[in-house]
Amino acid sequence: MTTGPHRPATGPLQAYLFADPAAHSLSPVMHRAAFRHAGLPGEYEARRVPPEDLPAALRGLRVPPACGANLSLPHKEAALALMDDLTPAARAIGAVNTVICRGEDLIGENTDAPGLLDALAPLTGPDRGQAAVLGAGGAARAAVWALQRDGWAVTVVNRTLARAEALTAELGGTAVAGADVPWENMALLVNASSAGLSRPDESPVTDEVVARLPAGAAVYDMVYRPAETCLLRQARAAGHRGENGLSMLAAQARLSFLAWTGADVPLHVFLNAAQAALQPHAQGEAP
Ligand code: NAP
Repeated sequence: MTTGPHRPATGPLQAYLFADPAAHSLSPVMHRAAFRHAGLPGEYEARRVPPEDLPAALRGLRVPPACGANLSLPHKEAALALMDDLTPAARAIGAVNTVICRGEDLIGENTDAPGLLDALAPLTGPDRGQAAVLGAGGAARAAVWALQRDGWAVTVVNRTLARAEALTAELGGTAVAGADVPWENMALLVNASSAGLSRPDESPVTDEVVARLPAGAAVYDMVYRPAETCLLRQARAAGHRGENGLSMLAAQARLSFLAWTGADVPLHVFLNAAQAALQPHAQGEAP
């Protein structure tokens, strides 16, 4: 459904990624594909914005043809104080990954949280139970907030237990040291830690932990490079269903695009564009 852009524009709409670094983002290929699919004139530019330049970059969004921006490291928390208003998700999670232009106002939104739920839906089905979230950074905060609202009882497990305790004190859930987690009760395991991000042979948990998950458990790894992460290999070996974080990346992008333009572009448009950019022959180009 296309309801038209939220900001009237004389020319093409303009959306951005503000991040540092920004060069390897998949967001431009996904959003350009979405503009094409929706038949909307528009452009998406990934811009390297160091922390000291974030206020000026955000000021540039207050005038057409800007319709919004994605924020990534290191801006998601810093942007909170620079918004005119925050959605309940962004306020509770304490991170803005999407800026929406409304007139001259900037609204801070977090589409990582609903994006994760959209990505999990095909993997988990309708039943809810206990879920373990690995990590205690921004991605884990989004996961804990989203999963609890979706009916999961969440256990947070982090390398630094004190950070998991601080997270659960604020957002709910239970912080448990890795050795004490009742893994056999966890119907869902979400890796929201950075383990495996820079070392493809690294997993946040041991083979034994994955083997202790109950039959039918689902494993979701927010990391997506390589496509089969070490954690997903462990899950497959133990007979569990698993998925990497590309579906979450695509789902959060779809929700950002919807908020900026009113155009509800199907998930596969974002996913196909991201997957194509990750193919070996395209590697000099986008990721
Ligand atoms: P962050 O704020 O830097 O938090 C990183 C977390 O990972 C911390 O809790 C840290 O533990 C833990 N950690 C780091 N290295 C570890 C290791 N070797 N073993 C175990 N734990 C480790 O990062 P973030 O923004 O939350 O992002 C976390 C991950 O999610 C990244 O891989 C990111 O790319 C991914 N992500 C994916 C999507 C998506 O759409 N697919 C969206 C957002 C984020 P300590 O507290 O002990 O330091």
